[in-house]
Amino acid sequence: MRLALAGDTMLGRSVAETLGRRPPEALVDPELVEIARDADLFVLNLECCISERGTPAAKTFTFRAPPAAVETLVHLGVGCVTLANNHAGDYGTDALLDTFHHLHAAGIAWAGAGANLEEARKPALLERDGFRLAVVGVADHAREFAAEDERPGIAYADLEQGVPDWLEDATRRESDATLVAPHWGPNMTSAPLPYMRAAARRLREAGATLVAGHSAHVFHGIEDSVLYDVGDFLDDYAIDPLLRNDLGLLFFAELGRGELRRLEAVPLKLEYTRTRLAGGEDAAWIRRRLRDACAAFGTELREDGGRLVIVSS
Ligand SMILES: [Zn+2]
Repeated sequence: MRLALAGDTMLGRSVAETLGRRPPEALVDPELVEIARDADLFVLNLECCISERGTPAAKTFTFRAPPAAVETLVHLGVGCVTLANNHAGDYGTDALLDTFHHLHAAGIAWAGAGANLEEARKPALLERDGFRLAVVGVADHAREFAAEDERPGIAYADLEQGVPDWLEDATRRESDATLVAPHWGPNMTSAPLPYMRAAARRLREAGATLVAGHSAHVFHGIEDSVLYDVGDFLDDYAIDPLLRNDLGLLFFAELGRGELRRLEAVPLKLEYTRTRLAGGEDAAWIRRRLRDACAAFGTELREDGGRLVIVSS
């Protein structure tokens, strides 16, 4: 299975305003869409709810996308989103339930959130040409959005305290391959914290074919089928001039039964509420940054027709 992987996709705030003025297809460049749709399945982290209801939670940033946002996802060929993150619950449980409704109506699966604890922890099962991929979503923040027995919410785990049994069990689930997508660690960091590396090792031992995290807003290095952070994909965020959260990557993972056969990435430029392929100096910066970040883990990078191929050490 050829899997496309992207990180934080925030379709609220100014992105929502853009969606009010322009068609849903306008948020992504046609060249990028063409490349993304080349995959059998596209999975990204939806860093907002999709609803017209609810009231914002008492926090600094709250993100709610209009129903039209789901058409942007459909246009990109997104087949599954992860909702275990610190923004899915920004507008309360009704808005989260609306999110499930809009995704379901569009034929998009989700993992990492549900109408109750059991549903939230249950992996999404995707099948393409007979190949079955389980997608597991988990977040180590925000605890206040955690699903409970009778309460909708996200799949929460305090990963600093280790990988809980339920998460290992979900990872071990019977499928041809398992993708675990943790939303973990602090924002605006350029490398994973020690507890994230420990959790990733544990998840790999439990049977994760691929671990692809997010939350930092910038991409991290790669080690043993672990993408500590895939970075951001689409948003309206302020740009850090050093960390360059406006320069990202779209990953492509070729999965076989229980193995990652090939991993490559295409450089992205996140413009304000619109994303396109990166070129020139931007692409060169991304290449250098990914090479250095991977080198820290002994992972090499080579180039193949404008794509960055990650070579396991
Ligand atoms: Zn987040």
